[in-house]
Amino acid sequence: MHYRGRFAPSPTGPLHFGSVVAALASYLDARHHQGEWLVRIDDLDTLRERPGCAAQILTTLEHFGMHWDQDVVYQSQRLHLYQQALEELRNTGLIYGCNCSRKQIAKIATAGIEGFIYPGSCRDRNISQAESHSLRLRTNNLDTRFDDRIHGAITQRIESNIGDFLIRRGDGIFAYQLAVAVDDHEQGVTDIVRGEDLLLSTPRQIYLQQLLKMPRPAYAHLPLVTNADGSKLSKSSDAWPVDTKEPVTTLNHALRFLGQQQVRADSVEEFWPRAIRQWDIDAIKGVMNHR
Ligand code: GLU
Repeated sequence: MHYRGRFAPSPTGPLHFGSVVAALASYLDARHHQGEWLVRIDDLDTLRERPGCAAQILTTLEHFGMHWDQDVVYQSQRLHLYQQALEELRNTGLIYGCNCSRKQIAKIATAGIEGFIYPGSCRDRNISQAESHSLRLRTNNLDTRFDDRIHGAITQRIESNIGDFLIRRGDGIFAYQLAVAVDDHEQGVTDIVRGEDLLLSTPRQIYLQQLLKMPRPAYAHLPLVTNADGSKLSKSSDAWPVDTKEPVTTLNHALRFLGQQQVRADSVEEFWPRAIRQWDIDAIKGVMNHR
């Protein structure tokens, strides 16, 4: 199958160095495999979105010389696709309404690998699936396994590690997990290269792919760029925009972070063909072991 990759930023702030690393790696991996590279704006969560950010992100990508194939798609314009997938999930009988507040969950739930494990309080309560309630997907404890190209074999038991997870929030916004599974499939994405913060989300996306009868893409999760204190850089909180004045220098920093050889180039036009030729995803494993 022909390689198709993607970069899917949320427009919650300007691109920071961590997102440039993700953009560069997904771009290089796609081009190294003579593949296509798409850009999708993950703007489902209108409450977190900052006006003007999506355009700013696209301008920055262009400035760095990362040219995408096809038109950019916006999740906010694809709600009908998520609604369709929700109906399909409803047909499996695994969707249920939930009216637990975060506070109620925090009171009784145990902490898991990613926040609280939903204790299943509403599972059998037959709560209406009306707009004002959130919707959850019933999970199970079968091992969900996948082979990450960087991390190797990953196994998760979704029910006991995460719990039944949200498909649509109480405010009507579709959950990231659903939207990403639907979009990656609908856009024909074969290879996902993204930050390690989403490694633990991948089994939920695989579970959704199984229920919706979608093929599974290949996954590679990149090490995260962190602040000096080890916390994750985030577009919305630190807003540490990346330095665009010397794009080749910034791109070389990203290469170094990923254990790649530096590229000598006077312009981004010169940079990319060389970087694409020498891209070696396996070299990332070497730098991870040293951090
Ligand atoms: N929109 C997500 C983010 O900016 C990334 C989604 C993905 O790559 O699956 O963190």
